[in-house]
This record gives sequence, structure tokens and C-alpha cells, in this order.
Amino acid sequence: MKDLQTVLQDWEAVIGLEVHTELTTLNTKMFCSCPIEFGAQPNTHVCPVCLGLPGALPVPNKAAIQSIVLAGLATNCEIMKRSMFYRKNYFYPDMSKNYQITQGPVAFCMHGSLELEVGGPAAKERSYLEGTQPLGNDGSGTVTGYMTRVGITRIHMEEDAGKMIHVGGSSGRITDADYSLVDYNRCGTPLIELVTEPDLRTPEEARLFLQKLRQIYLTLDISDCSMEEGSLRCDGNISLRRRGSMEFGTKTELKNMNSFKNLHDGLTYEICRQAEVLETGGTVRQETRHWEPGAKRTITMRVKETADDYRLFPDPDLAPYDLSVEFIQGVRDRLPELPDAKRQRFVSDFGLPTADADNLATDVILSAFFDKALLAAGSQAVALAKPIANLLLNDISAWLNASVAGSEALMMGPVAPEGIAELASLTVSGEISSKQAKEVFAAMVETGDSPSVIVEARGLRQVSDSGEIERIVLDIMSQFPDKVTEYQSGKTGLIGFFVGQAMKATSGQGNPKLINKIFTEKLQEA
Ligand SMILES: [Zn+2]
Repeated sequence: MKDLQTVLQDWEAVIGLEVHTELTTLNTKMFCSCPIEFGAQPNTHVCPVCLGLPGALPVPNKAAIQSIVLAGLATNCEIMKRSMFYRKNYFYPDMSKNYQITQGPVAFCMHGSLELEVGGPAAKERSYLEGTQPLGNDGSGTVTGYMTRVGITRIHMEEDAGKMIHVGGSSGRITDADYSLVDYNRCGTPLIELVTEPDLRTPEEARLFLQKLRQIYLTLDISDCSMEEGSLRCDGNISLRRRGSMEFGTKTELKNMNSFKNLHDGLTYEICRQAEVLETGGTVRQETRHWEPGAKRTITMRVKETADDYRLFPDPDLAPYDLSVEFIQGVRDRLPELPDAKRQRFVSDFGLPTADADNLATDVILSAFFDKALLAAGSQAVALAKPIANLLLNDISAWLNASVAGSEALMMGPVAPEGIAELASLTVSGEISSKQAKEVFAAMVETGDSPSVIVEARGLRQVSDSGEIERIVLDIMSQFPDKVTEYQSGKTGLIGFFVGQAMKATSGQGNPKLINKIFTEKLQEA
């Protein structure tokens, strides 16, 4: 098979995504008051409504509708004042009522979009740049990045099915299982499905889109968005067409891409597979395929001869759902600052480099911590922003990665935003070196003490007394007269040797900047 880069020179990939997200931060299910709880004893969170027993009447969960409206507003959708719930009829044992409640042609959220910024090596995957906005170039005219807009067809509300465990057999599928177990706890969990327009052109764009959407949902706090536990699931539709052609080719639907890497790799494989089929005179079948990350290939799951017939019709138990202007405005008022706006603020208000601002703004917990630390820094906020960002992105991130408690531990743990602001301030003022700052940080984690207490107790203060440093400098110069002569005859690289000697003399507590400055002065004078 040809590689992606080669394939994309002749072919244009047309990719659309369907993203299912469970609203895991809600307390109760979509149409009943059963609790939502991952990992509960099987079949303990069920009732006549979510099991669909005759005569049971569903009542929509208002909090779930607030969540989907939040998602719609954050993705530039139009919020529909009237939409309806429909029944999608099919039989499968994980759904005891034999239909799923979903939405029809009009969903709560319609016609949205997200802007994507694609940069770095990934920008090269889109080897042509029609319809995109170039962002800078490398000087020779080659574009190094671009902006592209991804249309969102709709976000609709539906309910999840139960969960099946297939026992026996080798594939873990129902077809060769000895028997299957079913757990209805997940039945009726509110799910939002976002469908994009076929606007994505490379696997990297698809990956970036899903990443951006996940960050938005996490910021909105409507789901824990765990791809591992299945609360965020993504399917892709892929077809190819010759470059320059406007007609769509036959598409396949790709499933089982439960990580960002799998999404990227699965789409890449499928694009290259379709190119090979087409280039050898074959035709792409309209089918659903399954990505196998271990074997690095996609395999046929089922062939669609015609569209599935779900006999979709309005649910007679549920009236059309009207959203008032006040309701929509109320949700709009609750919209938190989204990652893009946060990134811009970090750059314009605090002068952070774009890369740092991006890394912080896309992490809900780190960015909230950053804001708190800046608040604690008060009038020093602008001066301390970069050192605080460095601490967060290096020392604190490394500590969080190593700790079992996860990043939630950050806000309540021994490392408070006030302490980090103080640590940054001690470093900027030169009272401690950046090396000492690492030692202080480790001690903060261990003891929970504030940086100034630790610095005092351990005698860590950096030697910044220029009189004392001058004395040490002159002493070293008299110890190494040969080196002084060499330096003066042009071997200025010896400055490193001199500074090293002074650091040794101060047991590593000398201020290296100051030492460097005084040496340079004294060596030129001598
Ligand atoms: Zn229930």
C-alpha cells in the first residue's frame, strides 16, 4: 500500500465524524430518575421507564437539555426553539424496549462550526490549501500552517443502550460467544451525538477536531469524555475523490477508534486502502468497517446494501420540546470561557508565548490553577506569568503524571496556587536559583510548607551579595593565573570554568548570573 503522503497527492480524502458523548456529569438518566453511575452492580439502576415496560411514561431531564444547549452554543450552533423526540426502531438485546429515543430532522442544535488551526509537520498532510487560510510561511513561500472551518450539521439528543458482555469465543463478539450477559444500567443515559459536515481532509484534521471538541466539552463540564471508558466515542465516514473532482466517492464507515491515535491511524489506513482499491480498478463497497489497532488494518463488519430502515417516527409519549428565549439566554449566561478565548487572553494580557498559552488553555485544571496563581501574584502577575507557566508545564505536570491521584488532586493537594506564585517570585527576584526552585518544589510536595519557610529552614537562599561574590571571584582569579592569561588572549570560553569554580566555592548557592557578570568585568579589568 502507498503511504498517506503519496496517496493524498492524487486523491482528496473526504472525512466526516460522528461523535457520541455520554453526559456523565448529570445525576440522573434522560427520561427517568435512575442514577448514572459507572461501574455500579449490574442491573441495579433500572426502572420501568428505562426498561421500557408497558405504560411507563418518559419525562425529559431538563439538566440534560441545558447540557446539550451549552454544547450547541459553544460550537456556534443555532439553538432550535422547537424540536421533537423520535423513536428509532430496531431489535437488539441491549435495549429492552426495542426502540431508542432520539431526535428527527430538527435537533436541539443545528448548523454550527469550529475553526481548526493546523500547524507543524501535520500541515503538510493537506498538500493543497484550497478553502483554507494560510498561517505564516517558512520564508521560502511554503505555508507552515493553516486555518480551516469545520461545519457541524447538528447535535442531537438521544439515549444510550445497555451494555453486553460476550462470554466464551475468541473474538469477544456475539457471533461466536457461548452466552452473553446484559447490564441495563447504562440504558437511558443521556447521550449527545454531534455530526460534522464532510469538511475534514486529513486524519490529522480529524484528530485535532476531536481533541478540540473534547476540550470544549470538558470546559463545559458536561461529560468526563473518557475515550477509554467509552463516554466519548467517535466514528468516521471516509471517501476518496480525484483531486479537483467535486463529486463524492462511495464512503465507508469506520468504527472502534477509541483513542486519538486510533482515530488518526484508522483513518490513515482506510484512506490508503481505498486508494489501492480504486487504483487497481476495483470499487469501494459501502460498508461498516472495524479498525483493529493490533493488526493495524480495518476489516468489514457489515455490508450495507441499502440504508437501514429504522421506521423513525415522533415518539407519541413525548410532546414537541419548546425552548423559551429566557431558557436559552439562561444557558448562554452560564457559558464558561472557552479554550480559544482563554489562550488569547493568556497571550494578550500576560504575554505568554503561544505554545505555552495553548498548553495551559487546553487543560481545564492547569488553566484554572494558572488563573488562581496569577490572582495570588497580584500586581506582580504579568512579571510572574511566564515563570508560573513554566512551573505548571514542567515541574507540576511531571509531578501530576507521576502521582496516582490524577490532576484533580492539584487544587486540594499540598501545592496551592499561592505557594506557586511565591515560588515564582523567589526565582524572579534572584533569591533562589532555578535549580534551588526545583528542590523547594519537591519539598513543598513532601511537607506542604510554603516556599519561604522551606528556603529559610534549609538555608537555600542564593548568594546574591555582590561584595561576597567579588571576593570569591578575585580569590579564584589569583588561584588560576594561567587561565586568566588564556582568557585574556581570547579563550573567552573559559568563563564557564570560572563560573563553575565559583559555584563550587558557594556550594552551588551563588547566583550564576551575578557571578558571570562580575567575572566578565574583573577579567577585562585585570
Ligand atoms: Zn430508570
